[in-house]
Amino acid sequence: MSSVDAVTAYIGLGSNLEDPKQQVQTALQELSALSNSYLLCHSSLYKSLPVGPQHQPEYINAVATILTTLDPYQLLDHLQALEQVHGRVRDEVRWGSRTLDLDLLLYGDSVINTPRLQIPHPEMANRTFVLLPLSEIAPREMEIPCKGVLKSFLEGLLEGGIERLE
Ligand code: ATP
Ligand code: CA
Ligand code: CA
Repeated sequence: MSSVDAVTAYIGLGSNLEDPKQQVQTALQELSALSNSYLLCHSSLYKSLPVGPQHQPEYINAVATILTTLDPYQLLDHLQALEQVHGRVRDEVRWGSRTLDLDLLLYGDSVINTPRLQIPHPEMANRTFVLLPLSEIAPREMEIPCKGVLKSFLEGLLEGGIERLE
């Protein structure tokens, strides 16, 4: 892998079905084996209340960062393939329960707005379960393209409804 071409990407992981903690831990191992990529680090695991429909189990969340020479669409292909390996079933309910969700949060400083892929992830700056784990592994001064500096989102963060696991 040429270090010249490698891009730093951040990936949000979430699960609330079929042993969510194990799902996320296994997914982190799978990310460490992703082709043309190198897992730099990942956050702690967090337990959080669901967004959207409330009648579903709590989530386990984490954020990982990789160096990759995959382009963003190739990376999304790999992430969606991993969701399938984990038996993800897409139903009609938006933000419904899932065995594994892998969101591409950031891809270098790219801004992408296509039907299939939006980067930065449109909701990332509004979600405590993304920002808290992200703040463990990313510089507070990091710019989230089109949104602002990471630390500005951390200041107003509501810490209720989320717990860092040991
Ligand atoms: P949310 O995106 O609000 O977190 P979700 O994760 O439940 O909701 P999914 O059902 O997993 O949504 O994904 C719906 C579609 O979002 C996917 O088919 C994918 O093409 C698209 N998508 C757009 N941008 C991204 C991104 N940055 N990361 C992952 N998927 C994305
Ligand atoms: Ca998501
Ligand atoms: Ca998703």
